Amino acid sequence: MRVSRFPLFTTKETPADAEIVSHQLMLRAGMIQKVAAGLYNWLPLGLRVLRNVEAIVREEMNRTGAMEVLMPAVQPAELWQESGRWDQYGPLLLRIRDRHDRDFCFGPTHEEVITDLVRRELRSYKQLPLTYYQIQTKFRDETRPRFGVMRAREFVMKDAYSFHLSQASLQETYDAMRTAYSRVFERLGLDFRPVRADTGDIGGSVSEEFHVLADSGEDAIAACDGCDYAANTELAESRPPKPTQQQPAEAREALTPDIHTVAEQAELLGLNVDQIVKSVVVMADGEPAVLYVVGDDELNTVKAARALEAGDIRLAEPEEALNATGVPRGFIGPRGLPEGLRQVVDHRAAAAVNFSSGANRKDYHWVNLNWDRDMPLPPTADLRTVKAGEGCPNCDGTLSITRGIEVGHIFQLGTKYSESMGATVLDESGSDALMTMGCYGIGVSRVVAAAIEQNHDDNGIIWPAPLAPFKVALISINIHRSEAVAEKSGELYQQLLDAGLDPIWDDREARPGVKFADMELIGVPHRIVVSDRGIEAGTLEYRGRRDSENQNIPMEGALDFLRERIGPG
Ligand code: ATP
Ligand code: MG
Repeated sequence: MRVSRFPLFTTKETPADAEIVSHQLMLRAGMIQKVAAGLYNWLPLGLRVLRNVEAIVREEMNRTGAMEVLMPAVQPAELWQESGRWDQYGPLLLRIRDRHDRDFCFGPTHEEVITDLVRRELRSYKQLPLTYYQIQTKFRDETRPRFGVMRAREFVMKDAYSFHLSQASLQETYDAMRTAYSRVFERLGLDFRPVRADTGDIGGSVSEEFHVLADSGEDAIAACDGCDYAANTELAESRPPKPTQQQPAEAREALTPDIHTVAEQAELLGLNVDQIVKSVVVMADGEPAVLYVVGDDELNTVKAARALEAGDIRLAEPEEALNATGVPRGFIGPRGLPEGLRQVVDHRAAAAVNFSSGANRKDYHWVNLNWDRDMPLPPTADLRTVKAGEGCPNCDGTLSITRGIEVGHIFQLGTKYSESMGATVLDESGSDALMTMGCYGIGVSRVVAAAIEQNHDDNGIIWPAPLAPFKVALISINIHRSEAVAEKSGELYQQLLDAGLDPIWDDREARPGVKFADMELIGVPHRIVVSDRGIEAGTLEYRGRRDSENQNIPMEGALDFLRERIGPG
């Protein structure tokens, strides 16, 4: 590619609305251009990188024996009504109507379409197991599209779906996919980790996410220093603390006006924060519920949604909490709470002895409350977010918390979709058998941004070789004044092209500084410079994107030198 013919669209200015470095650099390098919130044009430079990711994903999927298909982006509502998700999916689903007033959605994922595809094509157990995949555009009407293509509304996903007659067969494909995912992210040169995960809207039981580790990641991961336990904090657990051996004391009400925080409450009452049980009112699918966690614990809304079997959960507004309980926020508690309200107690709060909680009247708290003695213990569940330094649930190790970007997610779905949509094949005995399913996603466009989060410096992107939009940058100094430079550069460019070394030639009439800055910004891994001085000495100047020094290499043999640096592929 010649830069004089292929505008780079690079800029020095950091775009004001780009918060994280990958978003800034993708815009500055001219990889993407915003069309509207969460919608982007992929410019030539960006698309080259996206296609490189796709190619590796495709190769590794094909290697597992999965077969590529292409399903429509627009999906009929009927399929979603069959699975029951038309009503469950909520505002993330972009619903549209055609000219005949029929309902459709823009697919956020393809379980329904693929289940429909196989139920119409597959007849016999002999055709199983079978895995289909596609690399295709999804739309999710995200609440807060942000960070560029990292959390876009329209994005490219590789989604694969497998079909089986037995759990053992599903497990086998799931394990093969897990291996394939590790190969993909290894080949892409990324520092990643598979972690246990929540299954969310998709359903199913067993699931793992693949995270690229980066401080800017939206997910928190709890990982053990002693074993391979690693889980998204949306579901991570820690070792329960030893139970306290306190004798129950007499419950009493205490006057606690002007108390706003758990710390203030603990101090006023002379208690430890872990002797405070706080009440959190949430709206779960529009219905209020009261959840109890220990004072310094954070309510985990993903766990809470699971415990309440709610699709949509959020903290109640003060007004909503007051309506539900009749008590001002801060003074709500389990003893004397109006009947009929749903309540769930976190395991640690359930283990609390002689604890303090709101007295359900303004300015008062109970002290020395005990479950069962003072009020019945509601259902219990894991509702809290684990903290760094807590014990691993699997071994004697300690958990630490790191941040990650979810780039892939694999699930064992079971029969959720085949059951609701009637996807069966004939089994060995000739009777109908439901297929068991797995599904496996990679956020192809998100991978591009995640790779930049892990690979950049002050000057720009540093592409891992397999992702790079070009392998070699050829920079000509003073090309418009020196015929020798123009000629030698043209020759070299042709040789690089012929050798398949994917060159980008900066043949513009621009200052050398501008050219160097652009090639560093767009992250080309290798750079050679042609100048009059070099031609006289019979040398080229070489520099790898991560090197701190230039190196003069003989003009003759430059191709071999580069081939060796670039390596195979
Ligand atoms: P997240 O938790 O980040 O919202 P998800 O768990 O809803 O993602 P999945 O349904 O597991 O996403 O989709 C498979 C993959 O698609 C994810 O692992 C992620 O890499 C990618 N992905 C999901 N949502 C987006 C988005 N809004 N923009 C870009 N990529 C996305
Ligand atoms: Mg996911």
